[in-house]
Amino acid sequence: MAEILKNKGAKAHRILAIMVGLEGENPLQLVEVAGRTAYQSRDRITDDSAAKFVEMIRKRGHEAVLEHSAMTVEFNNVSRGFTHELVRHRLASYTQESTRYVDESNLKVVIPPDKEPNEKLVELQLPNGIKLKVSFQDWIDLNEQMYRGLRKAGWVPQDARQILPIGIKSQIVMTANFREWRHVFKLRTAPDAHWEIRQVMTNLLKEVKEKIPIIFNDIL
Ligand SMILES: Cc1cc2nc3c(=O)[nH]c(=O)nc-3n(C[C@H](O)[C@H](O)[C@H](O)COP(=O)(O)OP(=O)(O)OC[C@H]3O[C@@H](n4cnc5c(N)ncnc54)[C@H](O)[C@@H]3O)c2cc1C
Repeated sequence: MAEILKNKGAKAHRILAIMVGLEGENPLQLVEVAGRTAYQSRDRITDDSAAKFVEMIRKRGHEAVLEHSAMTVEFNNVSRGFTHELVRHRLASYTQESTRYVDESNLKVVIPPDKEPNEKLVELQLPNGIKLKVSFQDWIDLNEQMYRGLRKAGWVPQDARQILPIGIKSQIVMTANFREWRHVFKLRTAPDAHWEIRQVMTNLLKEVKEKIPIIFNDIL
């Protein structure tokens, strides 16, 4: 039976890295060193000057300076629909689970959090005239059967994938600088964003606001 992933509230992200300078653990210090190049004021760097400096830069809208540090995040158990929306953001690097090479015989599919996978909602008319009432789970199970059948018949994953649904589970790693992450958060946590990317990005934004508030805490 295929696995249905109901991700509401689930943590689908994992921060893999936040870029820091050679001399510290704090990404703000890296941004500060780069930013102070403009004013030739590195002599004013102290142990606690970074937060104040970077906040000043951000409030003035000098977001180019925020490009000097970056973050790498893994998203897992998200749908292919989610990842398609994500990769539209062009100022980032991505590596994604391949449906060309990975066998998807154990199908995992993300369902909208407010939907019931076992509700028999749709009546299918089969070619032999028989009518069959099916649920989301039934449909995905049939999809899995078909995929397995094609694989058994000799179709390689990159051919059999043509029948996979857009809700299929995927894993993707994204690296972007802070400026681009700010842009992504603004667009993808907004009320008109799709529920899945909105939920995942809202969770990630909450975490980065705790980790590096000066960079992200003005985003609502
Ligand atoms: C709510 C919502 C609904 C959407 N609906 C659709 C839809 O129906 N159909 C569809 O096709 N897409 C849709 N999109 C995707 C959207 O069109 C963009 O592809 C996506 O937002 C990424 O592009 P971007 O410009 O925001 O920023 P990014 O690609 O993340 O780039 C960041 C910024 O860099 C700059 N930049 C990047 N590339 C260039 C460039 N070539 N030239 C000049 N400046 C550049 C821009 O300032 C840009 O805002 C939707 C997005 C959202 C948030």
